[in-house]
Amino acid sequence: GGRLDLSGLVKRYGNAEPPAVDHIDLAIEPGEFITLLGPSGSGKTTTLNMIVGFTEPTAGRIELNGTDITRMPPHRRNFGMVFQNYALFPHLTVAQNIAFPLRERKVPATESATLVGNALELVDLAGMGNRRPHELSGGQQQRVALARAVVFAPSVLLLDEPLSALDRKLRQSLQREIKRLHQELGLTFVFVTHDQDEAMTLSDRIAIFNHGKIVALGTPTDLYHRP
Ligand code: ADP
Ligand code: ADP
Repeated sequence: GGRLDLSGLVKRYGNAEPPAVDHIDLAIEPGEFITLLGPSGSGKTTTLNMIVGFTEPTAGRIELNGTDITRMPPHRRNFGMVFQNYALFPHLTVAQNIAFPLRERKVPATESATLVGNALELVDLAGMGNRRPHELSGGQQQRVALARAVVFAPSVLLLDEPLSALDRKLRQSLQREIKRLHQELGLTFVFVTHDQDEAMTLSDRIAIFNHGKIVALGTPTDLYHRP
């Protein structure tokens, strides 16, 4: 997994005061599972979008393993991303969805087929490759999105409220799935949620956001179980 260093990171939309992200410093260790937790509007998604490269910072710096990537285009960062709404291509099969990032990277067909097969097994969807997204449950669709986000062996996986659209029971089984994926892949996971229980269950460390700032940072035990 990659190491990420955010320093003095700021994003201001227009003249908004305070900025959406207001001078954040955060070192994310290789292979760690870190969660950005906080209320709606506190700057979590904006931070994730700057890490992945969809949003350009107003100020500050992002480093990956010591290299400045602040203005590197998203495709060159090679990070995986999972969204709340799955964002699968409805007209493509499950296997074609998972193969999509491999096609973009011009991975040869035979190698791609092997990688897609492995990814399907990884998320427990072997045999489902020929289905269309609408033939799957919400939980299965999110597992396809997970497979698509890791099939090209990224160094970092970013997850933006990936479980929020699911009902409670599915959410718990997907939490276990995400935890297992993290353990098996050894990737750095940056996970965004507003759900404190979810953050405590999944994370090595939690960064608590409020009004664009990190107001607390530590392990779940540090943050919630100290007298
Ligand atoms: P809201 O104002 O919408 O209730 P909060 O700012 O209280 O949201 O915080 C959102 C989440 O972050 C809650 O789960 C809360 O327990 C947690 N939280 C906020 N600030 C801290 C803090 N300083 N230390 C530990 N947890 C915090
Ligand atoms: P969170 O993910 O914690 O809910 P966001 O990062 O989405 O927070 O939003 C932080 C602040 O930035 C909010 O006040 C939000 O309204 C504002 N914001 C987010 N995206 C945009 C945008 N594209 N244009 C203008 N303001 C935005």
